[in-house]
Amino acid sequence: MKTAQEYKDSLRERKIRVYVMGELLESDKVIDHPFIRGHVNSAAMTYALAHNSECADLMTTTSHLTGHKINRFTHVHQSTDDLIKKIQMLRMISQKTGTCYQRCVGFDAMNATYGVTYEIDQAMGTDYHERFKKFLTYIQDNDLMVAGAMTDVKGDRSLRPSQQKDPDMFVHVVEKREDGVIIRGAKAHMTGMVNSHWMLIMPTMGMAENEGEYAISCAIPVDAPGVTHIFGRQTNDGRKFEGSIDQGNANYGIVGGECMTVLDDVFVPWDKVFMCGETKFSGLLVERFACYHRSNYGGCKGGVSDVVIGAAALWADYQGTGKASHIKDKLNEMIHMAETLYACSLAASCMGKATPSGAYFVDRLLANVGKHNVTKLIYDIDRLAQDIGGGIMATMPSEADLKNPEIGKWVEKYLQGVDGVPTEDRMRVGRLLENMTGGTALVESMHGAGSPQAQKVMYSKLSGLEEKKKFAAHIAGVGHSGKE
Ligand code: SF4
Ligand code: FE
Repeated sequence: MKTAQEYKDSLRERKIRVYVMGELLESDKVIDHPFIRGHVNSAAMTYALAHNSECADLMTTTSHLTGHKINRFTHVHQSTDDLIKKIQMLRMISQKTGTCYQRCVGFDAMNATYGVTYEIDQAMGTDYHERFKKFLTYIQDNDLMVAGAMTDVKGDRSLRPSQQKDPDMFVHVVEKREDGVIIRGAKAHMTGMVNSHWMLIMPTMGMAENEGEYAISCAIPVDAPGVTHIFGRQTNDGRKFEGSIDQGNANYGIVGGECMTVLDDVFVPWDKVFMCGETKFSGLLVERFACYHRSNYGGCKGGVSDVVIGAAALWADYQGTGKASHIKDKLNEMIHMAETLYACSLAASCMGKATPSGAYFVDRLLANVGKHNVTKLIYDIDRLAQDIGGGIMATMPSEADLKNPEIGKWVEKYLQGVDGVPTEDRMRVGRLLENMTGGTALVESMHGAGSPQAQKVMYSKLSGLEEKKKFAAHIAGVGHSGKE
């Protein structure tokens, strides 16, 4: 297993093309850019904790393929216990980083692809699963970070992939050769992509029979020829060129560090292709990945909420309101919501079942309900944190003002709270609250792992509404179900 430092060193060896604010970065210095540095530190935590004996039970496990000890982020779940430990692990890492550490996307993509390739092979006589196992063994043995790449840019949402004016709106195969395929298109919102080693491409939706070229799943190094990453902006990212206080979470950043990844005629050899034209399985792969990832959110956002709750409580203590009953009441409300998120993820894991490949899969309905809760409860948790924070959380002077030889003394004096707590500490916690509860962080809770509408679509499919009608009809003594 790599150490955090080995992980970072390995990233410098890539010949990756990353643009930030219109400029191409030098490939060996990508991880030093102020927009990217914190996200790398956060992902590095998934490596560092694997070497911490206190976390070994959650962070490491044994590969079912090789019997080697591996980082859990490269594991295929073999039991409900594995699914539960994943959620516990996510909450723990979030408590230490206060943000996204990105590695779960590839983790989930690998689990989804593992199971679905097995099922394709059973039905179609292909050999995708063996290919994928070889790839997975390589990832496990070298402890690599894989970015899961599902979301296409989608163009006109009222049209199917095959109906788009520009066929590149969905990643597709443009040429099949004897030695592999050439693919073209772009993937959006790619969490952790610029600090990964590989990307695992999956289709973005179920494909129709005539959309075979869009039913493509394959693995590509993030620095393969033809791949360009365009890094996204975040709320307050200009502060990353300043000192640390105003950033709120300068070490680990806010959210995952997303980019748009352009695939401009990228060659993929056949041994890294795991679906190519099997349209019937495209929707299954999407659903498998989406449910795995949605089930995470009560773990990771539960842990992030722990940090927000802690920051709100500290802030209140720093200004002398910590013992006020209305503050305690708000903190209790926040705790209730954070634990509700966590409970749903644990439930989805406890109710998990083996797929035909042997890989364990979460309960789909509960996974979707959990993610849907995140789209609401995080807003409420953050609303209460901002309520406790007060206006000063968003209007306070900067770190530069605090450190200014002329006016620093006034910032120091007039932002003082209770006696004994340095003004700088109060400012640091206020800025943490401000940055964790605003802008990009909220949008991520809404749309990460799929927008609320995507969860509602799953309810119609999974909730058994007809059965519920029968329950009611039986009890009310009406309709066919009532006449036994
Ligand atoms: Fe992992 Fe959460 Fe980040 Fe998704 S949002 S990659 S589950 S930490
Ligand atoms: Fe996410």
